[in-house]
Amino acid sequence: MDSAAELLEYYEVYETIGSGGFAKVKLGRHILTGEKVAIKIMEKKELGEDLPRVKVEIEAMKSLSHQHVCRLYHVIETNTKIYMMLEYCPGGELFDYIIAKDRLSEEETRVFFRQIVSALAYVHSQGYAHRDLKPENLLIDEDHNLKLIDFGLCAKPKGGLGYELMTCCGSPAYAAPELIQGKAYIGSQADVWSMGVLLFALLCGYLPFDDDNCMVLYRKITRGSYNNPHWLSPGSILLLNQMMQVDPKHRVTIRQLLDHPWTMSGYGSPVEWHSKQPLGYIDEDCITEMSVSLKMSRQSTLQLVNEWKYDQTTATYLLLLSKKQRGKPVRIRPQLPVCDVMSCSPQRLGVQTLLFDDDDAEDRCYDDDLPWVPLTPQQERALCPSAEKRRDQTKHAPTPEREPIAHHHRHQERRDRCRERTNENKENVAVANKDADIFALPARRSPVANRKATRPNKRVLTTPTHNNTNKVGNKVDTPQGGGSTCKDPSRKRQRERVEGKEEEEMEMLAFSPERRSRSLDLAGASRGDSSQKRRGGKVFGSLERGLDKVITLLTPSKRRGLRDGPRRIKAQYNVTLTSQTNPDQVLNQILSILPEKHVDFAQKGYTLKCRTQGDFGKVTMAFELEVCLLHRPEVVCVRRQRLKGDSWVYKHLVEDILSTSSI
Ligand code: ADP
Repeated sequence: MDSAAELLEYYEVYETIGSGGFAKVKLGRHILTGEKVAIKIMEKKELGEDLPRVKVEIEAMKSLSHQHVCRLYHVIETNTKIYMMLEYCPGGELFDYIIAKDRLSEEETRVFFRQIVSALAYVHSQGYAHRDLKPENLLIDEDHNLKLIDFGLCAKPKGGLGYELMTCCGSPAYAAPELIQGKAYIGSQADVWSMGVLLFALLCGYLPFDDDNCMVLYRKITRGSYNNPHWLSPGSILLLNQMMQVDPKHRVTIRQLLDHPWTMSGYGSPVEWHSKQPLGYIDEDCITEMSVSLKMSRQSTLQLVNEWKYDQTTATYLLLLSKKQRGKPVRIRPQLPVCDVMSCSPQRLGVQTLLFDDDDAEDRCYDDDLPWVPLTPQQERALCPSAEKRRDQTKHAPTPEREPIAHHHRHQERRDRCRERTNENKENVAVANKDADIFALPARRSPVANRKATRPNKRVLTTPTHNNTNKVGNKVDTPQGGGSTCKDPSRKRQRERVEGKEEEEMEMLAFSPERRSRSLDLAGASRGDSSQKRRGGKVFGSLERGLDKVITLLTPSKRRGLRDGPRRIKAQYNVTLTSQTNPDQVLNQILSILPEKHVDFAQKGYTLKCRTQGDFGKVTMAFELEVCLLHRPEVVCVRRQRLKGDSWVYKHLVEDILSTSSI
C-alpha cells in the first residue's frame, strides 16, 4: 500500500491549512463519521533527527485529553510518512486573531487567558511542560474556544515536573531568561514566563522583547525590562510583572494564576482546569452506535475501543463523542444519502474532491435527516477492518438494537436544494459575533473601522464525476444538473494533494526578484512612520511601471481565471478592507508591489500564492493574498492567510505590502 492509500481509506483530504517547521497540515474529513479533522503530515526523510520530536508529540497527545488541548484521534505511520489526525480548529491561530484586531481588550484577553491557564494547569498536572507557548500554538475552535497544539518540544521529566530540564528550546521571543542562559530550569516556571509574553502580546498586539538581532533580543530578555504601554490597567501591569520575573523563584506559579485577582475579575470563580473529557472515558451511546453500525457485539466494540490504539477505532469513537458533545446525532455514516451519493465521499466513490468555499455543500452531504443505506461488506472492510475480523469471532453474539430511522425520500426536493445552493455565491462562514477590527493598516485606508468577526474559510466541496464508479465498483447516477461546480475528477489529483504536489500545478510568474535577507525586510517594515512615508512616495512612482509588467505577464489562462470575477465573502478577521471598488485595480496594485518586496508569487485568478526565500533558496515564508468582494458593504477586500513562516515577520510584511499598495 502506498503512503497515501491508507490515509485515503479513512479520510477525504482537502487543502493545506497550515504548515510548521516539520509538518504540513491539511483539512480532512473522517469518512465514517463525516467529521472534519486536521491532518498533520510529516515526511520521515525530512524529519531526520527531529523524528524523536514527533514521537514525543504523539506520546504526549495520546495522554492528554482536555477541553483546551487539541485532541489527537488517529496516527497512521507508513514507511515514508507520519499522519496525525487532530481535532480541527477552523478559527485559525490566536496569533492571526490578535493581529487582525491589533490588540485585544482586557475583557477579551481575560476570556482567552483563563483558557490558557486552564490548559497549562492541566498539562502540568499530567507531568508535562509545553515549552513552546506562543499565540501560533493556540488555535481557535468553532465555538471560539482555544486549543493548545504543538507538543513537539514538550518534556516530561522522569522525576516529575519539579525536576530540572536542560534543553534550550522554543521560540526565542517567548523563552524564559533561565532557558536562554543555558541554566537548568523548571519546565512549569519557564511556561509561566512564556504565558507572560503571550499575555503581553494579547493586550498590546506586539512583543515585550523584540529585536532582529538575536543577541540583542537575548540581552533584553535576561534584563527582563520592557515598556508598559499607556492603555494597560494597573492590574494588567502587575500581573505581567509577576509573570515576567527574571528570577523564576519570584515568578507567580500556575496554581496562583488559577485564582489570581486579575484572572478572577468579573468571574468570581477560579479557573476550572480539570478535564471535562477525562482519558479513557467510555460513552454508552457511542459504543451502541459503533456496535450497531459496524455489526459487532457490544462487548467486542468496547474491547476494541478500550485498546486506545489511535487507529480507525479510536478515531471513530472519539469523533462520535465529539459529535455528541456538540449536540449532533451520534451517527456513523455508512449509509450514504441516496440522492446525493455522488457528492459525499470522493474516496469511497472514486470521485474527486474539489476545493471550493461552499458551506452548503457540507450541509448537503451531512444532513442528519438524510435517508441511509447500509455499508457493503467491502466498504465496511475498508473503513473498519478490525470490525470485520471481530465480527467473524463473535458471529453469534447479539447486537444491540438502534431505533429505526425514518426513511423519507425527498430526492427531487433535495436535488433542487443542491442546485440552488451550488449556484449561490460561495461564501465564508461567520465565526463569532464578536467585534473585530480590521487588520492593522493606516486608518485612512479603512473605510469601515469595525466589522463583525467571522469564521475563516471552509473550502470544501465534494463534487461528482460524470461517470462515477464507487469503491466497490458500482456505477452511481449523477444527479442531473445538480453540479454546476463539478470538475473532472481524478483520484491521482487527490493523492497528489496529499503528497503536497498541488503547488506545482500553479504557474509561477516570471518574477525573480533579487534576494534580500528577511531581517532587512523586517527592519524596513518595522522602522515606523518616516520610512513608511518614504516607501509610499516611491510606490506611487513605480505603480505604472508595475502595472505594465503585470498586464504583459497575464497569460490567457490567467485572464480566464479573472473573467469569473473575485469571490464574494463575508467580513472576517483575516480580511483587510480597501477603499476601492474595482477588484482588478486592487489586484494590479498588489501585483506591482510584490516584486519590490522581494516576494515571489503564483497567480490563480484573484488569488496570489506568495512566498519569500532566504539566501540559499529556502522558502522562509508562504502566504496567500486573495482579492475578494465583500458582501455588505460592497467593497473590495483582501483576504490573507499565513501558511508558513514567522508570524511577526509575516505581519510586518503583509502590512507593508498592503499599505504600500495604497489600496
Ligand atoms: P509543526 O509541528 O511543524 O510546527 P504545527 O502543529 O504547529 O506544525 O502546525 C502548523 C500549522 O498548521 C499551525 O500553526 C496551524 O496554523 C495549522 N494547524 C495545526 N493543527 C491544526 C488544527 N488542529 N486545526 C487547524 N489548523 C491546524
